[in-house]
Amino acid sequence: ADGEKIPALVIGSGYGGSVAALRLAQAGVEVTIVEMGMSWTTPGSDGKIFCPVLKPDGRSYWLRTRTDQPVGYFAGGSYNKDIQKYTGVLDSEQFSGVRVYQGRGVGGGSLVNGGMAVTPKRENFASILPSVNADEMYGTYYPRANSGLGVNHIDQNWFESAECYGFARVGRKHAERSGFGWTFVPNVYDFEYMKKEQAKTVTRSALDGEVIYGNNHGKRSLDKTYLAAATGTGKVRITPMHVVTAVSPTDGGYRVEMNQIDTSGNTVSVKSVVAEKVFFAAGSIGTSKLLVAMKAQGKLPDLPDAVGKNWGNNGNVMVGRANHMWDGTGKLQSSMPCLGIDNWSDTGGPAFAEVAPFPSGLETYVSLYLAITKNPNRAQFTFNSGTGKVDLNWQTSQNQYAIDAAKRIFDKINKKEGTIYRTDLFGVYKTWGDDFTYHPLGGCVLNEATDNYGRVPGYQGLYVIDGSLIPGNTSVNPFVTITALAERNIENIVANDL
Ligand code: FAD
Repeated sequence: ADGEKIPALVIGSGYGGSVAALRLAQAGVEVTIVEMGMSWTTPGSDGKIFCPVLKPDGRSYWLRTRTDQPVGYFAGGSYNKDIQKYTGVLDSEQFSGVRVYQGRGVGGGSLVNGGMAVTPKRENFASILPSVNADEMYGTYYPRANSGLGVNHIDQNWFESAECYGFARVGRKHAERSGFGWTFVPNVYDFEYMKKEQAKTVTRSALDGEVIYGNNHGKRSLDKTYLAAATGTGKVRITPMHVVTAVSPTDGGYRVEMNQIDTSGNTVSVKSVVAEKVFFAAGSIGTSKLLVAMKAQGKLPDLPDAVGKNWGNNGNVMVGRANHMWDGTGKLQSSMPCLGIDNWSDTGGPAFAEVAPFPSGLETYVSLYLAITKNPNRAQFTFNSGTGKVDLNWQTSQNQYAIDAAKRIFDKINKKEGTIYRTDLFGVYKTWGDDFTYHPLGGCVLNEATDNYGRVPGYQGLYVIDGSLIPGNTSVNPFVTITALAERNIENIVANDL
């Protein structure tokens, strides 16, 4: 309620925010989570919480009137559709040189992501965050995160004959034939449920293409794991449909201003509360935008200069290959990827490329990949006083590194297989999906913009605890690392700051 006094306020209900809320509550602290998106618990008129993939409606996108699919083209045309403007679950946020996909709602990115739960190789983690004790991460916090997230492994015997993973077996075969290593990837999607989907004994979700607009079944998203545990303590309250707009010091802590919105995105009321502690968990983009704006507007003038810097796209680039007729990828494809090509040891251009599904219900002969590369380029957020918004100066050309690294894998595979790249998936005559990312990272980097545990220097009681702490790259898909780092940091904060 307006004017309320709150012991701990968490901005955002993604991975960082969920971990913070649970651990603070277990330590006896009353927590309020403020989330700009919806609580995805009430079915629509079709009886489903999330909308159908092939017939998207307003539930699909955050306040857009047309869908903006990552792989938005096929065979010469765009297959985006007009939709009703609504506070849908997937945001495609456009900056000048990159659009950034993010989850919106209670559970953040966990509502829309591919569920790939990858712990990076230890030597890679150590080089990305050298100030963090890797022994502790691999001995304590990665295991804790994997267990809290409900990570599970595919039954490898089942995989070998499962119809829905034909595309992954073709991807693996081509990698092997060109001499590349590969690995199975754990997931938070319940593989036992998926087996039943394949056997047609339960309602299909991953096998019905559901993923980026939410899964109606099978997915262990944060609302079913960390957030369920957090609210189960009786000490955590979640306030959806409230957008935090400002944070500034005041007597007894920080004044947090917010707009309550309706499902068209209009502000229906403006509120402010006073919180003793504030945890920024609005994601790499959300947290960076807020802090950069607060510094520029003089609400948090003493924030370090490192705030807003060191942002990267996890080296993301997508590409498709056109297979021969004898290498069909299958009409039925699980939307949850389960293996990746590991070329990270290639010093000429390291890459980890997940073999991605292209679930259209038709045989497309497309092998699709999302490559995570070691793109060293970084960008910076700045406040634009003309528009009152925060800009990000990433240029699409900065992703050439990712294309070059991906080509080290796929040029070789194409040569060996006698195949070519698809040029119709990311635009008309456009081979590379190089202008968007699913993995925004950095902007408020650990041990640069914060102390070594996410404390904001100069502002006692302010913390950053999400993907903005990680300097632009994790070498693999990021959410397990975001969760493990949050577990590490909150343990230190609970021990020393309460
Ligand atoms: P988020 O999960 O983004 O949570 C931030 C929350 O804060 C959001 O709910 C947002 O609505 C809210 N928020 C933002 N600003 C405000 C504000 N001002 N006021 C109130 N609330 C606010 N990662 C993997 O590891 N494996 C995958 O398979 C994978 N697949 C992906 C597929 C897609 C389509 C996408 C979009 C992402 C994928 N990711 C994947 C990335 C992963 O989801 C993110 O890295 C992760 O969610 C980031 O966690 P976070 O805690 O930093 O922030």
